[in-house]
Amino acid sequence: MRFNTKSIHSGRRPDESTGAISTPICQTSTFVFDGYRKPKEHDYTRTSNPTRNVLEDTIAALEGGNAGFAFSSGMSAVATAIHLLSAGDHVISCDDLYGGSHRLFEQIMTRFGIEFTFIRLNDEEKIQDAVKPNTRMIWVETPSNPLLNITDLEMVSRIARENQLLSVADNTFASPYFLKPINFGMDLVLHSTTKYLNGHSDVIGGAIVTTTDKLAEDVHYLLNGMGTNAAPFDSWLVLRGIKTLPLRMERHASNALAIAEYLEDHPQVKEVYYPGLTDHPGHEIARKQMTGYGGVVSFKLKSDVGTFLHGLELFSLAESLGGADSLVEHAATMSHASMTPEARKKAGITEDLIRLSVGLEDVDDLIEDLDQGFKARSPSTK
Ligand SMILES: *Cc1c(COP(=O)(O)O)cnc(C)c1O
Repeated sequence: MRFNTKSIHSGRRPDESTGAISTPICQTSTFVFDGYRKPKEHDYTRTSNPTRNVLEDTIAALEGGNAGFAFSSGMSAVATAIHLLSAGDHVISCDDLYGGSHRLFEQIMTRFGIEFTFIRLNDEEKIQDAVKPNTRMIWVETPSNPLLNITDLEMVSRIARENQLLSVADNTFASPYFLKPINFGMDLVLHSTTKYLNGHSDVIGGAIVTTTDKLAEDVHYLLNGMGTNAAPFDSWLVLRGIKTLPLRMERHASNALAIAEYLEDHPQVKEVYYPGLTDHPGHEIARKQMTGYGGVVSFKLKSDVGTFLHGLELFSLAESLGGADSLVEHAATMSHASMTPEARKKAGITEDLIRLSVGLEDVDDLIEDLDQGFKARSPSTK
């Protein structure tokens, strides 16, 4: 099956026991045994659940992995993945990591003896230099958040193999429709399904896709042991969202490119960050490893941030991304507020940085809305 077909038919669909074309929501905590020592296929929903399993098989098929696992949030997927490590282990991670992952790594996991080095993963020598005797994992986000930096996954996975590190790609921003990290040698792919996979801003969820039986066994052991699993209803919503993932991603990307080009020409804009622009520093690598550039556009504003945000109507001021509705946010005080000011500075997340999650609306309406923001006068002088 090809991607568009997989997004609708992967997993056991239609449902084998009822023929339901829409996967039944198996809203149960436990499953009755056939008899003494005779469990059925499922015994307890934390361990496995039929609805969740269809979602897991679908995400695994879309990413080209051997198994998938669905979690209660992107962060519970991140937490589970990092628990593959033990005290004393060291992780190399990108410096412009998702704010919540940065907080988990730097503020929480360090208390359990895991060490982190945050660097820009754009220079092979720099990465090799960061490898220590206790390094076990390399963690990548590409395109990264919020500056859309691009990391060469082939280079990272090669370094990982040479040094026997586990390579992890958080593929939330691209979605498997535009990027399949496993094709470039990554061992583990992670998602906040809250974003594009679900796509409708109505679920918090996460996923991990593995590439070997050993990794699948280890991730499932942790999911079950830590109780980080996704609920049946949430799994069903994400499955429903995935059916239209290809269509949505195409629209997100075409709208985002049009907006990036509009912003590039705007006198109130200092700089635009979108990997689909030919002058973006990561454009060549993005072109090589992705089939599209996604729906997030960031830019630096010359004028007052508050005034601009106040002038917008269609772009709602909210964190998150990947939904049908366009959103705008101020990274320094919203999505990346959990980072220390020093970490933000190092990652280039300045006070004038605005991030757009370009939705599925008519792009002309979106551009008119931005125009209204640029023309707005400060609320106090209105
Ligand atoms: C949102 C996000 C997460 C965390 O996911 P939640 O579903 O909010 O817990 C992790 N990584 C990236 C890149 C994200 O955008």
